[in-house]
Amino acid sequence: MSSVTEKSDLNPQAANGARPSVCGDSQTLRHDWSVDEVLKILRLPLTELLYAAQTLHRHYHKQGTVQLASLLSIKTGACPEDCKYCPQSAHYAKETGVERETLLEVDTVLDKARVAKDAGATRFCMGAAWREVRDGAEFDQVLEMVRGVRALGMESCVTLGMLNQTQADRLAEAGLTAYNHNLDTSPEFYSEIITTRTYQERLDTIQCVRNSGITVCCGGIIGMGESERDRAGMLQALAALQPHPESVPINALVPVAGTPLGARAPVEPVEMVRMIATARIVMPKSRVRLSAGRKDFSKETQLLCLMAGANSIFYGDKLLTTANNDTDDDLALIEEAGLQLLQSEPSVE
Ligand code: SF4
Repeated sequence: MSSVTEKSDLNPQAANGARPSVCGDSQTLRHDWSVDEVLKILRLPLTELLYAAQTLHRHYHKQGTVQLASLLSIKTGACPEDCKYCPQSAHYAKETGVERETLLEVDTVLDKARVAKDAGATRFCMGAAWREVRDGAEFDQVLEMVRGVRALGMESCVTLGMLNQTQADRLAEAGLTAYNHNLDTSPEFYSEIITTRTYQERLDTIQCVRNSGITVCCGGIIGMGESERDRAGMLQALAALQPHPESVPINALVPVAGTPLGARAPVEPVEMVRMIATARIVMPKSRVRLSAGRKDFSKETQLLCLMAGANSIFYGDKLLTTANNDTDDDLALIEEAGLQLLQSEPSVE
């Protein structure tokens, strides 16, 4: 399996001639999609949708490359938020049995990052089940983790809940590549899923991240009972961010017993393909990440997602607290598909 470096000059003007009609005539990235327009794209005949997404993908991204991102829970459980999909919420702890754990030691986290790097990951994401960042020893410890991951030559991403501008600036100073804070769903459906934090608070956190110069990782989840219009609404809200999030994780709900969404039916694979293709079309420069829920998809579904414009997968046996695909199977899939892995920067350890 060969490796390549990321195409550095993604050209927003590059779509001349072959841009699919669904994208309009504009030569610049759009932030003014209406929900109706996005819905129309989401509902295109599948072959047309895939063709449009793949055409844009080829204009904006190095062909045939995929980034492996590894995700580690650095502080598990007892989160005061009530996200209905999340086994880490303290609200459902009795039913899920997920217990509060303390923040992992820096050395433990960096050992995991080295293992992930050796296995081919170039991005290391660290998640803490916090409502918000609090200044103090634990935040200082996270800053140390960020510095350590960057020293390994990996992209470093954290998801720590809400933060303020000073905290975002400190993360930027530590060298953080990206901050993950998902919109989760459409503004209209949001209150069905989370009541302890507003949509606007999410947008405010994302703005702090953007102001600090850290790149934004922001996406959402399907399969929580939302309508097709809500899915379009979520993509519209993401594409309205200026600039678009550099990274857009699209997750399929992993129903966890004990959470309020524990009994939901699995997402139909083709619905995931449609979401990824539509994300690729409305945010053509972003790295679209095929994220949670992939474990239940066939090899063929995953390949269709990659064809539809996904250019990253989460890699490693676990995604925070839920199981993920087998790493050997992932590498075999990538090799079989003739894809190439995005390469790390040199380590400065
Ligand atoms: S904020 Fe994050 S960790 Fe907390 S309940 Fe929501 S998804 Fe889970």
